[in-house]
Amino acid sequence: MSVDPGNSPVRRLADWDAAALRDLAAEYGTPLYVLDLDRVRENYRRLAAAFPDAEIAYAAKANALGDVLETLLDEGAGIECAAAGEVGRALAAGAGGDRVQYTPVNPPAADLDWIVEAWADHPGLTVTAGSADTVDRLAARGYDGRLCLRVNPGVGAGHHEKVRTGADAKFGVPAERAVATLEAAADRGFDIVGIHAHVGSGVSADDLDAHREFLARMGDLAGRATAAVGPLEFVDVGGGFGVPYREDEAPLDLAAVGAATREALGEVDARLTIEPGRYLVADAGVLLTRVNTVKEASGTTVVGVDAGMTTLLRPAMYDAYHPIRNLAADADGRAERAQTVAGPICESSDVFCEDRDLPASERGDVLALGNAGAYGYEMASRYNSRPRPASAVVDGGEARLSRRRETVADVTRVEREADADPADPYGEVPR
Ligand SMILES: *Cc1c(COP(=O)(O)O)cnc(C)c1O
Repeated sequence: MSVDPGNSPVRRLADWDAAALRDLAAEYGTPLYVLDLDRVRENYRRLAAAFPDAEIAYAAKANALGDVLETLLDEGAGIECAAAGEVGRALAAGAGGDRVQYTPVNPPAADLDWIVEAWADHPGLTVTAGSADTVDRLAARGYDGRLCLRVNPGVGAGHHEKVRTGADAKFGVPAERAVATLEAAADRGFDIVGIHAHVGSGVSADDLDAHREFLARMGDLAGRATAAVGPLEFVDVGGGFGVPYREDEAPLDLAAVGAATREALGEVDARLTIEPGRYLVADAGVLLTRVNTVKEASGTTVVGVDAGMTTLLRPAMYDAYHPIRNLAADADGRAERAQTVAGPICESSDVFCEDRDLPASERGDVLALGNAGAYGYEMASRYNSRPRPASAVVDGGEARLSRRRETVADVTRVEREADADPADPYGEVPR
């Protein structure tokens, strides 16, 4: 399924091969996530070219499929993990500890227990603590390994309130307390390796002023931290590189962001780390869904599809826009009509678009939702006892199933096994 021979800065939904996607829907059923690993590689290489001196740690929470982690590890990426389960998946995908960074938010006790156990086997792993309290909890478990401090720089960026984390007190040590927290950790014998901040998702070329302000604060803090605790190995400025969800949006000017980053950080004697999530995977993925019902309602046509908010949550959660394309061979010749595409979940927010002009849908058509490679499957749930969908990958132009479709038996297995409550949710540390 070769769609985009060049490494263009954006792959639009229109660029995908409709016949090839229809074939995948027929072979593996719907709803189906399709992720093109060749495109993931292109995205990685383009970003690496714009940040030639930076280490790239892929934010696994965007898409933690083993095939994605392995692909990016092969390209040279590290893995940024938001939770112990993601660390387990990164290690299982073959990441050495030295390529794993664990950046938890309010980590549960079981997570820290497991991470400290994993650290014994993988001493190169880096823990990024977001509060002095987390540092205490690590020390109490005997951890004195590589420590990075997540700071809250007090400036935010982002396309929606729920993803603006920099200005949100939940994340990171307040900037004015960062140096004292680092000094205290150094005194207790931690190996201080870096500082970190992530100001939310949605860095865009129009918004570079806020990004520059954030970077300048990080550069300044890096200088003060170095004076207090000695040289840092890295300064991690997080992810949030935006992708154009709308067809008429321009792609991020990476060269401009790369140049602004180097300039705004100033003279910092430490490696730069960036943590892209969506940028690497969003436009590499589509969600395929089949039309089951078409209903004329007052003022709109409601098109009922077999994917819903349990499959792709972003529209219901963030009012996110995803392009939608009818993949029928004759779709281009059909009249356009205002349509509301809705899922099978009993919630009024279970709607992918309202009154959007699309070629008239017919029962049996396959629709593709674009930019579904990031925060799609990862946010899927089993609400309404709806099993999660299958995932296919395209690799070297060849498609294969990467994760099977769940069944209701998968959903109810945990009831049948109620007596077998596992004490350790994360299991053996992958070696
Ligand atoms: C979510 C997250 C990222 C990635 O954000 P994107 O918008 O997907 O690039 C990077 N770092 C941290 C700490 C995150 O929580």
